[in-house]
Amino acid sequence: MNTASENTWVDAEAADAAKAAKIERETHKLEKRLCRQMGQAISDFNLIEAGDRIMVCMSGGKDSYGMLDILLKMKARAPVDFELVAVNLDQKQPGFPAEVLPNYLQGLGVEFHIETQDTYSIVKDKIPEGKTMCSLCSRLRRGILYRVARELKCNKLALGHHRDDMLQTFFLNMFFGGKLKGMPPKLVSDNGEFMVIRPLAYVAESDLIRWAEHRQFPIIPCTLCGSQENLQRLQVGNMLREWQKKHPGRIENMFAALQNVVPSHLMDAGLHDFKNLQITGIASDDGDKAFDEEEFKEASLPGIQVISIG
Ligand code: SF4
Repeated sequence: MNTASENTWVDAEAADAAKAAKIERETHKLEKRLCRQMGQAISDFNLIEAGDRIMVCMSGGKDSYGMLDILLKMKARAPVDFELVAVNLDQKQPGFPAEVLPNYLQGLGVEFHIETQDTYSIVKDKIPEGKTMCSLCSRLRRGILYRVARELKCNKLALGHHRDDMLQTFFLNMFFGGKLKGMPPKLVSDNGEFMVIRPLAYVAESDLIRWAEHRQFPIIPCTLCGSQENLQRLQVGNMLREWQKKHPGRIENMFAALQNVVPSHLMDAGLHDFKNLQITGIASDDGDKAFDEEEFKEASLPGIQVISIG
């Protein structure tokens, strides 16, 4: 017969095993969700086609690691053939650990290219102390990445922006730019040469954080350039997180709204011909209900879980 102290050991072991099994289940669910959401975005927006050669832009942050990781899983089971080339631009920021990404990518066995260009010195040289360096820095980076994509014969550039980045951009444009404009999952590059895709469009940042912890990606800090974090983006990010905390599901609803636009109920005469609008004599649920209160029904969109209101 077991003594009381032996039983305590057995109980602790059982509790540990149950905890480990729960973590494994949760991780498995997370992996399935990441793959499902990326697959859904690829299918909804036709992000990847047979014969594509995709340059996967790697910064060394959790998002780009997560993107490459899930893209490789998708590639293994994809119904079409496409190629991935991981690319990192080493901008020679002080303290950038140049060996981290090559070591990681070599270990994965994925095709990769590290481009080393000292844009940091150029930016430091041109921008007076205390002024923001980001616009020149990102312009230089864009030009270099286009050239590298051309040299590597890639037709698409995959960026690691996720659902929360896209929503933040939408609010930044509205609050500070006076535009209803977000960050699309697919857009032709500004020089017209490449298709820019965002395969993490449906993925929540919190899931990428958990995935990065689980996979123990060798994250490179994003503060090496010494530039201040974009204050406006920070504010909008905090606002969204605060809303979500107080009203769970709000992020999902707002994100669903980006895919559910009703131009006739906005005020852009370029999208809807208000001037020549004619009475049709046909009843329509989308017609104006005059003084009736709007009812909010549950939205239903692929890949997105939406909480109903009202
Ligand atoms: S945060 Fe730093 S690396 Fe990023 S765009 Fe700004 S200056 Fe460049």
